[in-house]
Amino acid sequence: MKYISTRGKSAPCSAAAAIIRGLAPDGGLYVPESVPFFTEDEVRLLPIMDYRQTACLVLGKFLDFSQEDICLAVEEAYASFDTPEPVVLHPLTQDLQVLELWHGPTSAFKDMALQLLPRLLTLSLKYEDQQQITHILTATSGDTGKAALEGFKNVPGTRITVFYPEDGVSQIQKAQMVTQQGDNVNVVAVKGNFDDAQTAVKKIFSDPALAAQLEKDHVRLSSANSINWGRLLPQIVYYVYSAFRANRLSSIETAADEPVNFVVPTGNFGDILAGFYAKMMGAPVGLLVCASNANDVLTDFFRTGTYDRRREFHQTISPSMDILISSNLERLLYLAAGPDKTALWMETLSKEGYYTVDDDTLEKLTGAFSAYFCDDEETSAVIRFCFDQYRYLMDPHTAVGMSAFFQGKSDIVPCLFGNTVLISTASPFKFAVNVLEALGEDNSQESTDPFSKLDLLSSLSGLTVPSGLADLKDLSVRFTKVMDPSELSSVVK
Ligand SMILES: *Cc1c(COP(=O)(O)O)cnc(C)c1O
Repeated sequence: MKYISTRGKSAPCSAAAAIIRGLAPDGGLYVPESVPFFTEDEVRLLPIMDYRQTACLVLGKFLDFSQEDICLAVEEAYASFDTPEPVVLHPLTQDLQVLELWHGPTSAFKDMALQLLPRLLTLSLKYEDQQQITHILTATSGDTGKAALEGFKNVPGTRITVFYPEDGVSQIQKAQMVTQQGDNVNVVAVKGNFDDAQTAVKKIFSDPALAAQLEKDHVRLSSANSINWGRLLPQIVYYVYSAFRANRLSSIETAADEPVNFVVPTGNFGDILAGFYAKMMGAPVGLLVCASNANDVLTDFFRTGTYDRRREFHQTISPSMDILISSNLERLLYLAAGPDKTALWMETLSKEGYYTVDDDTLEKLTGAFSAYFCDDEETSAVIRFCFDQYRYLMDPHTAVGMSAFFQGKSDIVPCLFGNTVLISTASPFKFAVNVLEALGEDNSQESTDPFSKLDLLSSLSGLTVPSGLADLKDLSVRFTKVMDPSELSSVVK
């Protein structure tokens, strides 16, 4: 399978080369030249395949690696998860199931991809016969950073530096990163918000002088952000897995192959885009509902066709979705409108801060996607409602999705029919302070120590604190550096 750039100006390359490079030389994102389709036999088998088997099948269709290499990588990646299957499909109401994607080492769904990406990268280097050191640079709105550090720690031939916005991550997220173990890891706080950090990192990637210097030192820069195809690919798997299962678990009457809707708490648009790929492969995926917090740039886009980042940035209680530039939307534009228009819109976005797609494109998009957003107050109300009503505890990101589900069902023209799967992207413990607040717990009397909140939430809910979070309080801080966005390239040098 060849990979091409969304902007159409880079030579096609192998999957391995696309994973090693991260970003295409023309500034676009790599996408497969065509989307593989499940055969009839595979469609018959998929409902009874377990998660790891499904992963081997899906990955094998996109990568020219041996099936043996792929399956070993999959086995190793999910060995550290605390459930037999790496994901859990939890029935919540008659027609809604929650897909818990946070049973990995860092308690956020990013582990699904970032436990696998380093292994795919190592394989890619082997297949491309490359010996240089890969230096991973990643800007994080909170969860990517920790998951990438955990995935890459002590992986031979790699180094990783994570940049996080100084005031844009939760206390627990910060504690997870600054205590990171491993010989090849570095963590830096950046003044500003996530978009400032991401823009600064993108600049490092496109600095030709720096690239020349690094080449002399046999170092190659790469990214663990969801712009890397190796990051997106593992995410297709859980849509395929749950789409073929959800109808059997539901209590409403549906044919087994009836399309299942997915509601997805969205930031960089990587997760939900993986759902679109699953649909194109022939998995029974229905409507994809894009759920945003107060940073509602995507909601506006799907409703009007105009993507306009010139708006106030809101810091919310779902910080991993506090994003105004959703990088992976570029891949969707490419799929809907082709490389020339995509290149033009991306250029307009970077020059003017906005672009408008044509009516044909908008029609294609709204046929497959709906979009809703909610503010912090609504997010908290949903957390409380679901705990009171269903005794189910969800984190703020998942609650933003839950709000979109309610809105989609009760809209003037409802968009959700049949079964729906809500993607749950983080453990409630990872955002314990906000979850407790939503539950109406007066935790102002308690100390500001985030670890006491974990225990409080545990006693309230009867759930066990995930070990990766419980153990944090005994680790010492290793990283304290704070930098201006303009200085970041010095870290690499
Ligand atoms: C990253 C993240 C998201 C958003 O996922 P995207 O792929 O960026 O759209 C949502 N929730 C949580 C908890 C996350 O960590």
